[in-house]
Amino acid sequence: MHYHPKSDLLKNRIILITGAGDGIGREAALTYAHFGAQVILLGRTESKLASVQQEIAARNLRPAFIYTLDLLAASQQDCQQVASQIAQWVPHLDGVLHNAGLLTDITPMADIQLQDWMNVMQVNVNATFMLTQALLPLMHKSVSSSLVFTTSSVGREGRSGWGAYAVSKFATEGMMQVLAEEHKHTGLRVNCINPGGTRTSMRASAFPDENKDKLKTPADIMPLYLYLMGDDSRRKTGISFDAQPGRKAGPAE
Ligand code: NDP
Repeated sequence: MHYHPKSDLLKNRIILITGAGDGIGREAALTYAHFGAQVILLGRTESKLASVQQEIAARNLRPAFIYTLDLLAASQQDCQQVASQIAQWVPHLDGVLHNAGLLTDITPMADIQLQDWMNVMQVNVNATFMLTQALLPLMHKSVSSSLVFTTSSVGREGRSGWGAYAVSKFATEGMMQVLAEEHKHTGLRVNCINPGGTRTSMRASAFPDENKDKLKTPADIMPLYLYLMGDDSRRKTGISFDAQPGRKAGPAE
């Protein structure tokens, strides 16, 4: 995507990023802070979140908040607790990037372990839903807020072996569409991003033999992540965007 945002695109914006300790979420948090946002970093591993927080501080950007939560174990009450804590820190939320995700073994549907199926649904669908429900009131307090889910090419067209992960991403696309429709006359817009093959540890676990040098890095795909959080996307809702339009799904050659 060719998008050249203004350097203060996200000035005065308050944005929550899940899975902010590593991979794409880490890069998104640093990028949003660089463009002026105050970020709230949510994730599973406190030390990783603290390292992102320190990097933001070292660059003299707006101080970040961190909230440690394992989405695999998160209940509705835990998610309400997140919202209550955030409401004590900030007056509203201008953006939420649901980025945290779980991918288990690539295996035929017939062989998927029930617990793996449950875990993927818990992190990618149930926790995302519970967190969204808890955070909506804070998003409605913003004049214009952006809710962004993370999908995948296997969430649009099923692919052999991608089982629970693919189904969870279809559910994510559905969640986005329903919410977008429900909020189309409000200041809240709701969209999905498909990052496309990106050089992270999740990608390496799925395609251990591919040539990583041929993959885009998280930094390369940030233009779309910025576009959807800033004012330029204000009228876009209900859309599933590609961060790498035209990229063929599957391993990099
Ligand atoms: P990574 O595995 O590199 O990072 C995922 C982040 O999510 C990590 O910070 C991880 O925490 C966090 N996370 C995972 N499980 C939990 C949990 N139970 N509770 C809280 N946080 C959790 O993945 P990517 O950056 O590659 O993926 C980001 C998103 O993009 C995912 O939704 C993925 O499905 C999607 N995606 C990625 C593609 C790619 O090629 N990379 C392609 C298509 C979609 P911790 O640091 O503690 O491990």
